[in-house]
Amino acid sequence: MTLDKLLEIVEDYNPEEIENVTKAYKFAEAMHEGQYRQSGEPYIIHPLNVAYILAEMHADGSTLCAGLLHDVLEDCDCTKEEIAKEFNPEVANLVDGVTKLSKLNFSSKSDQNLANTRKIIIGITSDVRIIIVKLADRLHNMRTLQYKTEFKQKENAMETMDIFVPLAYYIGAYRVKSELEDLSLQYLYPDKYKRIEDIKYKLEVDNKEILQEMLYTINKILNDRNIPNEIKVRTKNIYGIYKRLNEGNKLYEIHDLLALKIMVDDIANCYQTLGLVHSKYHPINDKFKDYICNPKTNMYRSLHTTVFGPENRLVQTQIRTFDMDNVASFGLTAYWDIEKGNARNVMQEDLKSKYQFFDSLIEINQVFADNQEFVWQVKSELFADKIYVYTTKGDIIELPKGATAIDFAYKIHSDVGNTMVGAIVNDKQVKPDYILHNKERVRIITDIMSYGPREEWLDKVQTTKAKRKIKDFINNKEG
Ligand code: MN
Repeated sequence: MTLDKLLEIVEDYNPEEIENVTKAYKFAEAMHEGQYRQSGEPYIIHPLNVAYILAEMHADGSTLCAGLLHDVLEDCDCTKEEIAKEFNPEVANLVDGVTKLSKLNFSSKSDQNLANTRKIIIGITSDVRIIIVKLADRLHNMRTLQYKTEFKQKENAMETMDIFVPLAYYIGAYRVKSELEDLSLQYLYPDKYKRIEDIKYKLEVDNKEILQEMLYTINKILNDRNIPNEIKVRTKNIYGIYKRLNEGNKLYEIHDLLALKIMVDDIANCYQTLGLVHSKYHPINDKFKDYICNPKTNMYRSLHTTVFGPENRLVQTQIRTFDMDNVASFGLTAYWDIEKGNARNVMQEDLKSKYQFFDSLIEINQVFADNQEFVWQVKSELFADKIYVYTTKGDIIELPKGATAIDFAYKIHSDVGNTMVGAIVNDKQVKPDYILHNKERVRIITDIMSYGPREEWLDKVQTTKAKRKIKDFINNKEG
């Protein structure tokens, strides 16, 4: 990796930033002078690679500079003010945010650490690009983990799974998330990793012809109708396969191991393509998902349908527009391409209005004055396992694992929670404290004459919003 290689890619999509990026490189190089990585290379190689990862996402100028400068506050004799003066306050803020995020640690117990942890978590909501730079930093560190001791490797891999994989998921950066997961698994369970890698390779070889045949056939059908398209074969990542096997699935039960990804120019053509695919390959009825009308909670959008391909092999087909595919691979970072100059504002706005994790984070911050409780709640509500359930309209709702129908009701609206008397889950009536599972369809039964939430519900809910609303209701009733 060299500066020229970085500049070449920047020149391609954002030539007016060449000067700034060069300046940031020179500045960082001087700062890290005499420092070396464990691999023996000069330290500057690391920030350079981080900036390159960001340039591949077509990051804006400030983000690129922050990528190059991200370690100077921590490792060198340099202050935030100096960066602000030398570059601008925006770059200084990003570098400062990344430096702090590096210290995020959920297990620290001292009061000061807890207060710090809270500041870091709230800090990332001020500018989502802090998360993006940090993810690029972690990605390069994970890619070069072979130079660390075995203890450090495992420790970093665990931290990556606990903190950075969820963050990548929340902003929809699937490509980064998949790579981080695979790298972590490789260091945590090398044997299992190797075994699944072999399985994956064999699957790809065995199915190559079938997928190529399908790809060719669909491409021809679409070309005949003048629908602009691009089709790719996609295999689930190694960690994805590991997780499904670990959940007790047999290999043949995992229907989306191999998928065909079909990208077309607009939404109308997505649905037309769906019809064309179904008329050629017979679909399985209950394996169809419309994430275009009902995006996932991290704004992933696509049509999914599993069909009988050649030789009656099941193949998942994903149909989406080119822009949706960009968002599917890079999440919020895709806006750098889609929105150009206005990307930063659109990212921040979208994060607030569309990404459910952001809302939960703000809510937790408002409710918990105590730092220890705040940190514990963020950890258990946002950085633990989650479930996804459907409303009757088909909207997807994200909840922590163990959440009940009461949590669901309050997530919809506090009035729904306050008048809830029961729920219907997949056509079966259940009590309010029923624990929800992935993919269940939930309808809340309300009655305006209901008694209202009971005090014992407080023990049955997982989410901060439900807890707060129940307490509010009880306090108002007494007062
Ligand atoms: Mn770094």
